Amino acid sequence: MQIDNANIKRFLTALKNMDIDSYVYDKGDMPTLPKLQKTVRQCIKCDLAKTRKKVVFGEGNPNARLVFIGEAPGEDEDIQGKPFVGRAGKLLDQLIERIGLRRSEVYICNVLKCRPPNNRDPEPPEVEACKDYLIAQLNLIKPRIICTLGRHAYNTLFSVDERITRIRGVLTSYHGTKLLPTYHPSYLLRNGGRIKEAREDMENLKELLKGVK
Ligand code: URA
Ligand code: SF4
Repeated sequence: MQIDNANIKRFLTALKNMDIDSYVYDKGDMPTLPKLQKTVRQCIKCDLAKTRKKVVFGEGNPNARLVFIGEAPGEDEDIQGKPFVGRAGKLLDQLIERIGLRRSEVYICNVLKCRPPNNRDPEPPEVEACKDYLIAQLNLIKPRIICTLGRHAYNTLFSVDERITRIRGVLTSYHGTKLLPTYHPSYLLRNGGRIKEAREDMENLKELLKGVK
């Protein structure tokens, strides 16, 4: 991923939150995913800290070529501290299988690391507060392909307000990394007729992965 000014600012903010003052090539002082996770686990940057049970940082292969980004933890995720472990998670697992990958081979995270009460939509100040962590995660994992699930992940990364039906399936690029937006699994559970398009997106991801190291 190419790092531009807006991105490096967010990355450095995340590092500051990890008590890392300088980003130099000193192994002892290197930012890592586990260090970031430790920081996020203690985060109180927005009000969701008051109502969450567990922080859901994200999980999977730290060197994944493919990263999935959802919206925010739901009830099951909040209890277990893991992303996509409820009904939507089962569907996500099935979609990942269609790519010919196992869940442990990809990395899965969300825009928000804490559950919004009653699964309401993320609010802009929460997204703003949490976005640095997502950017830092992407900078540390350096995936070759990003798959955003639903409109929130896409809109957060690009700071836009698009409808999912307009953006879904259209390959784009996020700072030099291929990005394919698809439907959120929860949306697919409510709109079964869209599953065919989601499967097409998985087929597309499978092909795209063949073209990268
Ligand atoms: N929905 C999401 O967006 N993320 C999860 O982790 C679970 C459900
Ligand atoms: Fe911090 Fe993000 Fe949780 Fe808000 S949602 S408390 S910013 S980790």
